[in-house]
Amino acid sequence: MKTQAQAVIIGGGLIGCSILYHLTKLGWTDVVLLERNELTSGSTWHAAAGIHGLHDHNNISRLQYYTMQLYEELERETGQGCGIFQPGSLYLAQTRDREHQLRMQAAKAKYFQVEFHELSRDEAERLHPLADFDGIRCIMYEPDGGNVDPSGVTHAYAKGARQRGAEIHRFTPVTATVQRADGSWDVETEQGTIHAGAVVNAAGLWAREVAAMAGFELPLMPLEHQYLVTETIPEIEALGRRLPLIADRDGEYYMRQEGLGLLVGAYEKDGRYWSEDGTPMDFGHELLDQDLERIEENLLRAFDRVPVLANAGVKRVINGPMIWSPDASALLGPVPELRNYYCCCGIIPGFSQSGGLGLTLAQWIVEGEPERDLFPWDLARFGAWANRAFTRARTLDQYSHRFKIHFPYEERTAGRPVNTRPVYEKQRELGAVFGLSYGYEHPLWYAPDGVEPVESYGFERQHWFESVAAECHALRESVGIIDVSNFAKYRIRGDGAHDYLERLVANRVPTATGRSCLTPMLGLRGGIAGDFTITRLDDEDYLMIGSGIAERYHQRYFDSVARADGVVFESMTEAWAGFNVAGPNARALLGELTEADLSNEGFGFMQSRRIAIAGIDAVALRLSFSGDLGWEVYVPVERQAELYAALLGTGKAYAARPVGSRALLSLRVEKGYGSWSREYSPEYWPQEVGLDRLIKRDKPEFLGREAWLAIKDRPPREKLVIVRVETDNADANGGEPVFLTDGRPVGRVSSGAFGHSAGASIALCFIRTQHAVPGTELDIAILGLPHRAVILDKPPFDAGGKRLRA
Ligand SMILES: Cc1cc2nc3c(=O)[nH]c(=O)nc-3n(C[C@H](O)[C@H](O)[C@H](O)COP(=O)(O)OP(=O)(O)OC[C@H]3O[C@@H](n4cnc5c(N)ncnc54)[C@H](O)[C@@H]3O)c2cc1C
Repeated sequence: MKTQAQAVIIGGGLIGCSILYHLTKLGWTDVVLLERNELTSGSTWHAAAGIHGLHDHNNISRLQYYTMQLYEELERETGQGCGIFQPGSLYLAQTRDREHQLRMQAAKAKYFQVEFHELSRDEAERLHPLADFDGIRCIMYEPDGGNVDPSGVTHAYAKGARQRGAEIHRFTPVTATVQRADGSWDVETEQGTIHAGAVVNAAGLWAREVAAMAGFELPLMPLEHQYLVTETIPEIEALGRRLPLIADRDGEYYMRQEGLGLLVGAYEKDGRYWSEDGTPMDFGHELLDQDLERIEENLLRAFDRVPVLANAGVKRVINGPMIWSPDASALLGPVPELRNYYCCCGIIPGFSQSGGLGLTLAQWIVEGEPERDLFPWDLARFGAWANRAFTRARTLDQYSHRFKIHFPYEERTAGRPVNTRPVYEKQRELGAVFGLSYGYEHPLWYAPDGVEPVESYGFERQHWFESVAAECHALRESVGIIDVSNFAKYRIRGDGAHDYLERLVANRVPTATGRSCLTPMLGLRGGIAGDFTITRLDDEDYLMIGSGIAERYHQRYFDSVARADGVVFESMTEAWAGFNVAGPNARALLGELTEADLSNEGFGFMQSRRIAIAGIDAVALRLSFSGDLGWEVYVPVERQAELYAALLGTGKAYAARPVGSRALLSLRVEKGYGSWSREYSPEYWPQEVGLDRLIKRDKPEFLGREAWLAIKDRPPREKLVIVRVETDNADANGGEPVFLTDGRPVGRVSSGAFGHSAGASIALCFIRTQHAVPGTELDIAILGLPHRAVILDKPPFDAGGKRLRA
């Protein structure tokens, strides 16, 4: 075994082998994979290994398509069979909502230019003559759906990697990972130590134990999962061809052909944790005790669908553990608190995603940043708040609702509340309905008297639409109080603070006390890694405000720029709470609570002051994400309740209302404001989202500068536009494909909402540049059906910014 390598991957399951393969493909050939046992010794060997392409998230779909195509290439390249069967998949809808979901998938398929189309019942019966389609409203067909051989695929990745120089050592458990002062790692085994530039935790079922070796925790929990395989079914034998898979998600099972029988698996409501306190190191190619009773109801529904199943003998039952994250998506990427340590863990549909995950992580390691925005896979979406109790509750909830439809605005309740702020009870009294915002309960909307403060979900507008409308009107017509405590807040101070920020962000950092600037922070490919407001509070004392969900994500960028010894970088997100007081009467309301001069002359737009409000020392910034006259007011969290009481009390005379985040979405969309992870991500160039105007070309140094110089004069590939949509019962939400009126795909929605001041449904969309022209008519697939839209030349609310500057 060598003693030195560019990277060491821990774990020789499907995912570790894919990462190894992709590293070698990107040119890192001095790489080693260490496996405790044989390859495939975790979840991989007993998987049902079904594959599919479409996913609710567009970039994950892209990577699932990449994975499905890769398997054939892998076979050709390595000569190792991957056991690929692609007889197609039949997706069945039993409910109206499922039909909407499938129609949306079909519209997205058109955008991705892949096959996923509706079949008549006759056509479906010809493809699957053993299925009974009674009660099915709509059938979609994905011709590339199928399954692969778990061992074949894993070994093909391994072989491809070895052919390019990678080493794989089986029966070599990693016993410790120790970081050296220069950021490299010693990876210890009983057979020796490898000194590695980078370490990858791809230890699947043992990812928690391997993380613990490096001193951190991953929010993961294993659960049992069962499927059965039948004996030969004579009707299948007689057919002489392979049956398509059945994805009857309302029935909560999956089914495909295995040999001349069928394989049926289910995610039961009554799921079972496995090895909660840690995966035993000696767990190998073992199966867990079968318990078919637990999945009996699901199986009975499968028997109704394919009646020959009921008479088939059971050849084997597989009950194996798989390890889940709180939202059932991968925990991918560099661990922000460590140097050169990467994870790719918690993978559920591993066979649909292995190629995409391997490619993305390899890009991250070799090129410093992945090509696509994959925040839904980024492990940084969870902070320390995703504790054991939360993880436990969420993973079971995910397991038992595996095939549930994810409606727009979905907020799951399992494991909550985790954290609350002091005004939580008061907000509840006011009718707040809460969502989870990076570990905290945060008001989404407020139910007025007579409306039950409960969420409902659907693809169409829900009962809270009217409450949100009332909040928007209250703010636009008088004044609203928005809790903005969930924004990320950083204080950067000490000798060198200004210099550090100048080298971090692309705009010029204010040099005058009391001034604020908006600025993008660029990623390593020149895209938008973040957007911030930076305020100079004092000499060498700055407040930076950014996206709350991205706090851990942004930490990677913040830490990648050197700070002088005297600079203290401190997150104030927990210590400070804030409200945005916004609307035409914001000045009058705040004016009653402070002696400070709030006039335009005394406190202009994009300025800040330390002022006392209701006797509380506060930092006030004159800006508002609502697009209206407003101030963001931040105070120590202990004084949040006091400030809130003062604002609400004095606000009564102005009919001030608390305003939730759903209303804020509507307000910012009709104002055309972008938001991080929707309109702003490292995937988009500044000139595509209109932030290039904030980049100071003459600054000699800032993060991402070189990459930006290389792309800055290139024409935008797509442009962010604002559109008005003709719709009366559902608004675009994000991710919907956009077509020209002749059906050609030209883009996708990034955010959407009904604009209550605009009196119209509004969406922000990325549209191919040549079509991103005001007046162009488009069709947006809402509920999977085309809805006419037109590109506007300016935002429908206060395009000139008069309200902000009033
Ligand atoms: C019953 C069942 C059915 C499934 N069906 C499907 C399906 O139809 N489609 C689908 O896409 N997915 C399916 N899956 C999920 C799929 O199996 C996983 O997504 C995939 O196998 C995850 O692979 P992995 O490489 O991340 O983890 P694992 O397969 O768990 O691999 C981790 C590897 O790390 C090694 N390791 C651990 N600790 C160390 C150490 N200290 N040193 C060295 N090596 C170590 C282990 O020995 C193991 O080989 C199913 C899973 C189960 C249980």
